[in-house]
Amino acid sequence: MPRINDHFLKLKAGYLFPEIGRRVTQFTDSHPEAAEDLIRCGIGDVTEPLPEACRNAIHEAIDELGTRQSFHGYGPEQGYAFLREAIVDHQFPGIGIDADEIFISDGAKCDTGNILDIFGPGNRIAITDPVYPVYVDTNVMAGNTGDCDREGKYQGLLYLPCTSANQFGPEIPANEKIDLIYLCYPNNPTGEAISREQLTAWVTYARKNDSIILYDAAYEAFIQESDLPRSIFEIDGARDCAIEFRSFSKNAGFTGVRCAYTIIPKNLTGKTATGMQEAIHPLWLRRQSTKFNGASYPVQRGAEAVFSRKGRVQVKELTDYYMNNASLLRTACQTAELEVYGGINSPYVWVACPEGVDSWAMFDLMLEKAHVVITPGAGFGAAGEGYFRISAFNSLENVEEVCRRIVRHLG
Ligand SMILES: *Cc1c(COP(=O)(O)O)cnc(C)c1O
Repeated sequence: MPRINDHFLKLKAGYLFPEIGRRVTQFTDSHPEAAEDLIRCGIGDVTEPLPEACRNAIHEAIDELGTRQSFHGYGPEQGYAFLREAIVDHQFPGIGIDADEIFISDGAKCDTGNILDIFGPGNRIAITDPVYPVYVDTNVMAGNTGDCDREGKYQGLLYLPCTSANQFGPEIPANEKIDLIYLCYPNNPTGEAISREQLTAWVTYARKNDSIILYDAAYEAFIQESDLPRSIFEIDGARDCAIEFRSFSKNAGFTGVRCAYTIIPKNLTGKTATGMQEAIHPLWLRRQSTKFNGASYPVQRGAEAVFSRKGRVQVKELTDYYMNNASLLRTACQTAELEVYGGINSPYVWVACPEGVDSWAMFDLMLEKAHVVITPGAGFGAAGEGYFRISAFNSLENVEEVCRRIVRHLG
């Protein structure tokens, strides 16, 4: 009988979204009249259609596949040059990122998980708390943690709490050397952004301690305030200490189409078991060439169209639409006298539960009273307790109704 990867058995049984699904089904089964009324603001998936520029580009690319002359088989391992060059020109102008440092993939979720393939055992790993669960669970699967304690924390991981007490900015460890740090800004789930000063402090720490920052910028397109960093590579010295993950999922509605990219500077290094410095870039290239065969040609053409003249306008309309939703949700929560965070530079609004209500009790209350599905903060980590997340990924009509219900039931 084959041995299994025992580390999988350490994963918490009650994974957040299945548990939400279970509670919703239980409620709608016993209250069928409420089922029709239910509005889901839980899972962070987009709702609005794919921009026309992207759809046209995908259609055309599929037609190209229809003749021998313009057919495309396996593409280049790192992704097509047309897309990598468009990314450099439009997303990193003057920042010194080379098209060769970009790896196209079918998702930032897989990239943030798969990246652990190229890092060895024994690394000291830090995550923010609350956190995007993928970073934690992939470290558990890779055997980088011990068991889960009663609070839901894995032994061996360093948790950096982000609460209203520190304005949701993780404190930089004073006397501790971390090897890998996951940072995600604008943040999922708190919706808060990181300032240039804070990010600079992290880069300074990482360079001093030979750490690598795994920087997830999946929500970069939602940044509204012009003084905020959009990429970690805007910070001097970040090329020595950072990998950045980006995605077309949230800005351009590609959650179902699948396209993302990861930036690995060529000068970034790690060390071998014997302490020798080795470049990271060739390891990831090798990993991708061996285990991955690229995003499809039509999808990469669709992603390229995000940067076309029409595509840029249409993507801006999409992000504006969701950010207007976020603004309405913030206002409704404030009207209901709830403490509200996020939602200014990201499509997530992070709300403090009323005094004495924990985040799962808040989930049940919103479900039963308002017929609105939110995400309980505790599902993102121990420091998320006492908060809940409302996603602005919804139709305006639904958001307006959610706002009315928040004011009516929580005000
Ligand atoms: C949605 C999201 C992503 C994007 O994942 P894809 O696999 O590209 O769809 C990445 N990171 C975070 C934190 C997210 O919320």
